[in-house]
Formats: sequence, structure tokens, C-alpha cells
Amino acid sequence: MSSATLIETRFLSAERAAAMIREHGLANCIRAIADHIASDFLRWETFDKSARVANHSPDGVIELMPIANAELYAFKYVNGHPRNHLQGLSTVMAFGVLADVATGTPLLVSELTLTTALRTAAMSALAARTLAQPDARSMAIIGNGAQSEFQALAFHSLLDIDTFHLYDTDPLASAKLLRNLQAMGLQAKVFADTRAAVAGVDIVTTVTADKTNAVILTADMLRPGMHVNAVGGDCPGKTELHVDVLLAGRVFVEYEPQTRIEGDIQQMPADFAVTELWQVLSGQAPGRQHGDDITVFDSVGFALEDFSALRFMRDLADQLKVQDRLSLIPALADPKDLFACLHAPAAIPSRPASRRIAFV
Ligand code: NAD
Repeated sequence: MSSATLIETRFLSAERAAAMIREHGLANCIRAIADHIASDFLRWETFDKSARVANHSPDGVIELMPIANAELYAFKYVNGHPRNHLQGLSTVMAFGVLADVATGTPLLVSELTLTTALRTAAMSALAARTLAQPDARSMAIIGNGAQSEFQALAFHSLLDIDTFHLYDTDPLASAKLLRNLQAMGLQAKVFADTRAAVAGVDIVTTVTADKTNAVILTADMLRPGMHVNAVGGDCPGKTELHVDVLLAGRVFVEYEPQTRIEGDIQQMPADFAVTELWQVLSGQAPGRQHGDDITVFDSVGFALEDFSALRFMRDLADQLKVQDRLSLIPALADPKDLFACLHAPAAIPSRPASRRIAFV
């Protein structure tokens, strides 16, 4: 009898991913993910792309984000529930898969909550490095929740931003961000409102969470040459920018068909002109043309960024010799005899009860 084919899928738990990122260095990881995103965006046309599939509910959304090229398939499961903190849960939680296109074999199952924060920050900073004024040194961060430290560090690492103005409707969130930035040696100050926080800065990052058409930034808060990194408007009925902000600047997006549905430009007519960032990165479209231009990156988060981040985490796991594996696929001597796996009982590993959280 031929031996069974054992398929082991690499597994990165939340704890393992955090340990790997600590060991490699957070700033190094963000820079490397930005490089992976840039190289994947430069081979944009080789990817089989689609807008993500979203299931909406009164308080949130759950989304599936698939993408593939000739070798690798990836998807991310991610939610967005701005009121989750009231139950002690994160607004955004995610996990994802990398698979082999030739056979469909799952190669990697990974946490993506922490990794999403890194890849979103890497994407924001990559867009700003391409679009913002080269001498930009200050940034306002409006919305000081889970994503905010990563945004600050990415802008510090990729653009040398060294001054951060903070504002959040929740003063405790701003106090947390201030503490964490100061611990990293970054200069930051909390302001009383958005208008005060954005006054005089070179870049404004909006990264708030509220399932509504919020007006975080209005056109009278802009100044010539500003770059706006709008991260929190990423779902139908969930926006951050006044339409006049979009009219004041040139708007850049990740994947236009998805951003038309989910981004701040959902407020604009279908023929409102936008530029996909890959076109600027590849030299096919201009980015900033004049020092006084206002540039807006209307970010929603695209599957290709998760593909890039998953590739990076897989390679880092190889480099750090991470051994964790999952048994997801039955080991079969005869692939046509799936029934056989019911014959011999195998030991089923279990986790300690204290580490289980059950929602019934
Ligand atoms: P979070 O809930 O941890 O933090 C959001 C913060 O925004 C909270 O502290 C809240 O008090 C604050 N806030 C809400 N309304 C505000 C307002 N009007 N003015 C100032 N602050 C306000 O959420 P998070 O994980 O940091 O995510 C932030 C946003 O980014 C969410 O909307 C999320 O969907 C989005 N997001 C986008 C991407 C992307 O790729 N574009 C990726 C991840 C998250």
C-alpha cells in the first residue's frame, strides 16, 4: 500500500506573528511590506483582481478579499465593527490564507489583524512617499485607535515625518497614542479638535471608525501642498471627507472598481476622475505636479496589499525557522478514497480550556 500524502499548512497565530515582528523589528517589517506592495503593484496587470465581497449588518461589515496571480492565491477575511470596543473587541479583526494556484493546496493560514495594521500603514506611507511634498515633516492623525501607532511609525520610517498632531473624540485613545509614540521617541501633541490638529501640518491622516457619512475634514482646513491620507472611509455609508476636499485635490485610489463602492469617492458621480496608484508608481500617470497641489489618497484596503503582506510573513517565517503547522487536509494513501480517513482514529490536538473563547 502506498503511504499517505501528508499536507501541512504553515500556521501563524496572533502570538507567533507578534513575536516574529518583534524579533525582526516593527519598522523593518513595515518597510519590507511597503517594498513587497510596491513590487506587486508594479506587476499589477498579472493579477486576477476583483472588488471584495461584503456582507453588511446594522453595526458592521464582514468582507472576503480574494486575489491571485499565476503562482499564488490569497484571501483575507476581515470585519469592520466600529462599536466593537463596547464589548471589548477590536473594530477590525482578520485572518488570511496563501495557497498554491497549481494544485489549490493551502500553504499558509495566518492571523491578519496585526499584519493588516502593518500593511495599511505601509500602503499609506508608500502612497504618501509617492504623492506628498518631499519635504513634508509633520502629520496630523485624526482617529487614535488601533491603526494609529502603525501609521505614525510608517510615516516616520518611510518619509522622515517627525512631528505628530493627534486628535480623537475619545481622549483616552489620544492619551494612549501619545504615550506609545513618546515611548518610541517620536514628538507628538494632543489637540482639542480636528481643526486645531491639522493647522499647519504637511500631511493629514484620517483613520476614524464610525459607520456614518462623517465629515472629519472640510476644505477650509486644507492648505496648499497638503497630502490627505484618508484611511477610515472604507465601506458604503462610511466616509470621512467633505466632498469639497475631494474636489480641491487630485484623488488617488488603490483599485478603482472597489473604491467607487467603498471609498470617500462613493459620494462623487461615476465620472469623477481618479488615478490608480500603481499607474503613478509605474510612471504611467503623474502624481503630484505642483508644490501647491492637494493630493488625496482615498484608501479602502485592497486584496493585493494582503497578498504582499502574506508573502512577506511567509518568507519571514522561513527566515526565522518558524515550525508551526496545521493539519487542514486529510492525509490519504489513495486521493480517491477520502472515506478511508474515517477508519483509523488519529489523535486530535486540543488547546487548554483557559485559552478558548466561545461565542454561542
Ligand atoms: P479603532 O476603533 O481602534 O479606532 C478608531 C478611532 O476613531 C476611535 O478611537 C474613535 O474614538 C475615533 N473616532 C471616531 N469618530 C471620530 C471623529 N469624528 N473624530 C475623531 N476621532 C474619531 O479602529 P481602527 O482599527 O484604528 O480603524 C480605524 C479605521 O480605519 C476604521 O474605520 C477601519 O475600518 C479603517 N481601516 C481601513 C483600512 C484601509 O486599508 N483603508 C485598514 C484598516 C482599518
